[in-house]
Amino acid sequence: MHPQVERTLEEVRRRNPGEPEFQQAVVEVLSSISLAVERDPSLADHSLLERLVEPERQILFRVPWVDDSGTVQVNRGYRVEFNSALGPYKGGLRFHQSVNRNIIKFLGFEQIFKNALTGQSIGGGKGGSDFDPHGKSDWEVMNFCQAFMTELARHIGDKTDVPAGDVGVGEREIGFLFGQYRRLKNRWETGVITGKGLDWGGSQARREATGYGVVFFARDMLRNRGDDLEGRVVTVSGSGNVAIYAIEKALQFGAKPVTFSDSSGWVYDPEGVDIELLKEIKEKRRGRASDYVAERPSAKFHAEGRPWSVPCDIALPCATQNELNEEDAKQLARNGCVIVAEGANMPSTPEAIHIFADAGILFAPGKAANAGGVAVSSLEMEQNAARARWTFGEVEGQLAVIMSNIHRSCLETAEEYGKPGDYVVGANIRAFLRVSDAMHAQGVF
Ligand code: NDP
Repeated sequence: MHPQVERTLEEVRRRNPGEPEFQQAVVEVLSSISLAVERDPSLADHSLLERLVEPERQILFRVPWVDDSGTVQVNRGYRVEFNSALGPYKGGLRFHQSVNRNIIKFLGFEQIFKNALTGQSIGGGKGGSDFDPHGKSDWEVMNFCQAFMTELARHIGDKTDVPAGDVGVGEREIGFLFGQYRRLKNRWETGVITGKGLDWGGSQARREATGYGVVFFARDMLRNRGDDLEGRVVTVSGSGNVAIYAIEKALQFGAKPVTFSDSSGWVYDPEGVDIELLKEIKEKRRGRASDYVAERPSAKFHAEGRPWSVPCDIALPCATQNELNEEDAKQLARNGCVIVAEGANMPSTPEAIHIFADAGILFAPGKAANAGGVAVSSLEMEQNAARARWTFGEVEGQLAVIMSNIHRSCLETAEEYGKPGDYVVGANIRAFLRVSDAMHAQGVF
């Protein structure tokens, strides 16, 4: 590794103790870009790497709200504005009990590079709270969102920082958040948040974008080997926004998705997932994975283990970070899996990624494969700025082109740096070059 990169990594470990996921994300990116710095050491001039790993701004705030029993609850809110060299900070909000500064920093750091890969003018940021929406009433979720936005509103804006959804933040939460922003500012500023409902500034195909984008990416990986998705068995984890639409698009392409999961367990449906039933349970009823098997005799629910034990051609981890470990990767390799494309952010552990490489499994990191969500969010911002509304077909068409461009640029960059077929190296270097060019051009800050 280039000595400057080594020093930066040591500093990151020293200055960010107790933040394992953040360190993991930085190690992965810096290990790749070391190749670029070896070729052109001026890329690291003016402490660029040290600036890159330090957020421009970190906001931490108290979120007091009243639950249905009249008790005041106190959560923590976060917004990490990581890098704005390419545009306003852009990245989702995550509401989950596991959220802390470490998680938001790892997600914000990844977001810089993901957003750069889309080719659009968006910087990187992320936010959220340790609030858990599961089991809360709509009133409680609304109270929480209003309290959260009451503080966040002063930090965001359509030209400053544009949040969106993530785990635990879907259209319901975006509605409450946008409503409170509008109430506080007395402005119809639709470009301040993305993932909105279609009648109030949202974009067609935003809901589908991340999951569809992952499958477009996997299709391009297969095409590159002269293959396609038709008849391929796909294992998927998660059953939220990303997983549902990855399953839907895989079905549309003639593949056979056979699993999904949530935090209570996972479902194996050897006949192929019934997407309408899954949507009904997850999107309408807000039910659990196990509810599916009650209405689908071909399916089995497993409270233990993970979907990666099921033989498949393609694995799409779409739930959460570090959900696919070394053992899972070995199992996938033994079962003949040929492609792993990440729908979630950093779902594969570093050890799993080594196994993929050793076993010849093609591996697409989340920052490339799941960039479709933020790409369509950026298209939503464009429509808001122009007061325009594009059709579903127009947005989906643009999404497919963006995913193909990312796929091609990853491969080209990997080849250029002597690592053909290495999507991790290709994605990290390609994104880094775009961000570092902008940072150098704009001077030290
Ligand atoms: P959702 O909240 O819609 O769904 C998350 C799914 O993952 C649920 O099935 C949930 O189960 C499961 N899950 C979450 N945390 C855990 C956990 N700790 N252990 C086990 N299962 C878990 O989120 P999304 O689908 O939006 O996001 C999924 C992943 O994709 C995340 O990594 C997110 O950062 C990433 N992503 C999302 C984008 C988007 O546009 N939404 C864009 C790019 C990346 P349960 O309901 O039981 O908690």
